[in-house]
Amino acid sequence: MTSHLTQQDWQARAGGLKLSTQAIIDGQAHAGRASPLDAINPATGRRLAQVASCNEHDVDEAVRAARRTFESGYWSGMPRAERKKRLLKLSELIMLHAEELALIETLDMGKPISDTLWYDIPEAARTYAWYAETIDKQYDEIAPTDAQALATITREPLGVVAAVVPWNYPLLMASWKVAPALAMGNSVILKPAEQSCLSAIRLGELALEAGIPPGVLNVVPGTGPVAGQALGMHPDVDCLAFTGSTATGKRFMQYSGQSNLKQIWLECGGKSPHIIFDDCPDLDRAALAAAIGIFNNQGEVCIAGSRLYVQSGVYDEFMQRMEAHAAAMQPGDPLDPGSKMGAIVDERQLARVLQYVDSGKQEGATLRVGGSRVRAETGGFYVEPTIFECGSQSLTIVREEIFGPVLAASRFDTEDEALAQANASIYGLGSGLWTADLSRAHRVSRKLRAGLVWVNCYFDGDVTVPFGGVKQSGFGRDKSLHALDKYSSLKTTWISLA
Ligand code: NAD
Repeated sequence: MTSHLTQQDWQARAGGLKLSTQAIIDGQAHAGRASPLDAINPATGRRLAQVASCNEHDVDEAVRAARRTFESGYWSGMPRAERKKRLLKLSELIMLHAEELALIETLDMGKPISDTLWYDIPEAARTYAWYAETIDKQYDEIAPTDAQALATITREPLGVVAAVVPWNYPLLMASWKVAPALAMGNSVILKPAEQSCLSAIRLGELALEAGIPPGVLNVVPGTGPVAGQALGMHPDVDCLAFTGSTATGKRFMQYSGQSNLKQIWLECGGKSPHIIFDDCPDLDRAALAAAIGIFNNQGEVCIAGSRLYVQSGVYDEFMQRMEAHAAAMQPGDPLDPGSKMGAIVDERQLARVLQYVDSGKQEGATLRVGGSRVRAETGGFYVEPTIFECGSQSLTIVREEIFGPVLAASRFDTEDEALAQANASIYGLGSGLWTADLSRAHRVSRKLRAGLVWVNCYFDGDVTVPFGGVKQSGFGRDKSLHALDKYSSLKTTWISLA
């Protein structure tokens, strides 16, 4: 794919963009019975569209449609080669519509167009293609029993899978769940976050165009407490895969316990430590990675390296580099291909980020750079890259997930001290360390309580590796073959040969 579109080209396209705003239930556009949601462009604060909002009756309709299509066997029992073909087609269609989808995502969520065009959309397309390719390569098992029996272990789809996702990578987070769930033969109900419904609706349309039968992928925009809760409490949803905050993740555990004990898989919040040892092999590269690690996507990243720990010997030098990167990453118009940071998703999140900045100042952290709302004249919700130096690990900005471009930096002296500080969190999602010492790299990686560890890099990865956390960052893994376990169950069939 190539794109030479300028800011003006994207603005012109935005003016002519036709947005789909209805829910998709059983293959049909559906108005939703709750009051419509406003899709707000975070770059301007202006309304882009009104989007259908589903209530519990709409959700029930979607679950019934999903159950019906699942039981019909049309998708779940479709020859694997055919199911694969249709998911590959969906991947192709996503790439065919990459510019349109990138624009939708940028307008709806505020992230830079270069990120949506070159990362979010191609990665989403790749996710469908990758799981499509797994479908006809899965074998079942025969257990090593004694000769009087034949015991088969077969993998079966679960039935109706609900996916409830956040707004920070709307299409990609959805795809990490929808692609493996569909590949396994389930029927799916996708509930996007209320701030970012538009790409999910377009995905539902493209899935129909790709030949995924009506009712197999339903999209129910709606609020968390109404549509999200209705899915969590529904007695006929078999599995609910969630990405979002830890607080909401805990609610889903409760919904499950109060309803049908549906399987719950949680990808929740993070407060990831990024450790720079004195023997860091390349301070320039590490500082760039640390800056991208916290400021990319406006800091609205679950694996953001939001706690930086720098060893005393390189602390001053490293922090100077961090300041320079912060200055160079000022937010700009998300439709400008040169912008490295865009707008915060909405006014509420903007207020939340600024409150954390205030708490940092009040609790005695030293503000080194940033800390303010910028570009307010645009009507948009922009915050400049912000770096605090923290003398204590008990500060609110060190402990809590901010989900904005705010870095809490601390100094340490010994490896043990760095590890103790890194692990002193309720979260355990991402983590990073920079060292030239191979033994230390292995030793520290093993001791970090996190689902992901990056050594001499940060954020790297692809669909082939599992993604998820420990502690209150959740459990279960998105991506890789392991994600298929979440959307299938094992059946043992014991056949007597006596
Ligand atoms: P959120 O928990 O507020 O919302 C996530 C989803 O849950 C949305 O679809 C929302 O409508 C729904 N929801 C909200 N309240 C609900 C309720 N009471 N009942 C049922 N559903 C409800 O999170 P957010 O603000 O959209 O996203 C930010 C959070 O997501 C951060 O904590 C971030 O770390 C996390 N996140 C985690 C990962 C990961 O892979 N671990 C990835 C991205 C984001």
